[in-house]
Amino acid sequence: MISVRGLKKYYAKTEALAGIDLEVAAGELFAYLGPNGAGKTTTIRILTGLTRLSAGQASLNGHDIEKQPLAAKRQCGLVPQQINLDSELTVGENLDIHGRIFGMPQALRRQRTARLLDYVELAERRDSLVKQLSGGLKRRLMIARALLHNPRILFLDEPTVGLDPGIRRRIWALVKRIQKDGTTIFLTTHYIEEAEFLADRVAFIDRGRIVAVDSPAALMGRMGSWAIDQVGDQGMQTSYFKSREEARSMAAGQETEFTLRRVNLEDAFLALTGKRVK
Ligand code: ADP
Repeated sequence: MISVRGLKKYYAKTEALAGIDLEVAAGELFAYLGPNGAGKTTTIRILTGLTRLSAGQASLNGHDIEKQPLAAKRQCGLVPQQINLDSELTVGENLDIHGRIFGMPQALRRQRTARLLDYVELAERRDSLVKQLSGGLKRRLMIARALLHNPRILFLDEPTVGLDPGIRRRIWALVKRIQKDGTTIFLTTHYIEEAEFLADRVAFIDRGRIVAVDSPAALMGRMGSWAIDQVGDQGMQTSYFKSREEARSMAAGQETEFTLRRVNLEDAFLALTGKRVK
């Protein structure tokens, strides 16, 4: 559904993407995990037609983004990181304008607006001004807007940034439901729990390069299953183990304080890049 080959992007002399290759299958939920400045937003902006690539190729559902930009754009909906709703208009009006931009006839716009507001549980707020909505509700409205023209692929750029943990979980549930209903999802995040919880596969991105792509379980499994953190002479040191028993028996001989925990994606990212995601 998404195919990318040798994708590069330069902003003046800054190399934002240094040659990205990736394939995302239909129906997959694919996460792009990396620290700020890694190149996540740049990738999404190129794939959704908001900026041009410097080199390489990419296609969405078989439509080349350079050669068939309009057809490619119709394949996807985008939820950008910044809230870009029209705050002086109502919830319903924001969706209607988007439908007009996509050339949807009025009857279809009305039908899709009603269905999507129901889907994201905003039907009762249809006539509220957007400026009266909380951050979580605005994010849900942006998701409804991105789905209005029935795209095959949904791009979510840091969908839960700045939201409270409870609200974040509701967005996660919505994202899972959208995938279950057949949409391919590409999301960027710097929250390891988000990638672990949601993604079928995760790409680690660092300084414009993909350093690993695999399922969260396989990426974490490279390290073992359990970890022990200890404060040593050189700061925090972590040791990894295949089983809890193995970790416990090592810990039994320790005099210093330690924490026993499960391995997470941050461990795998740190091992591959030498840096933390956050
Ligand atoms: P991320 O989304 O992972 O935080 P970005 O894709 O936003 O990363 O940025 C990747 C790199 O490109 C960074 O070094 C950033 O400073 C640079 N960059 C992004 N957008 C622009 C721009 N419009 N002009 C110049 N440099 C940019």
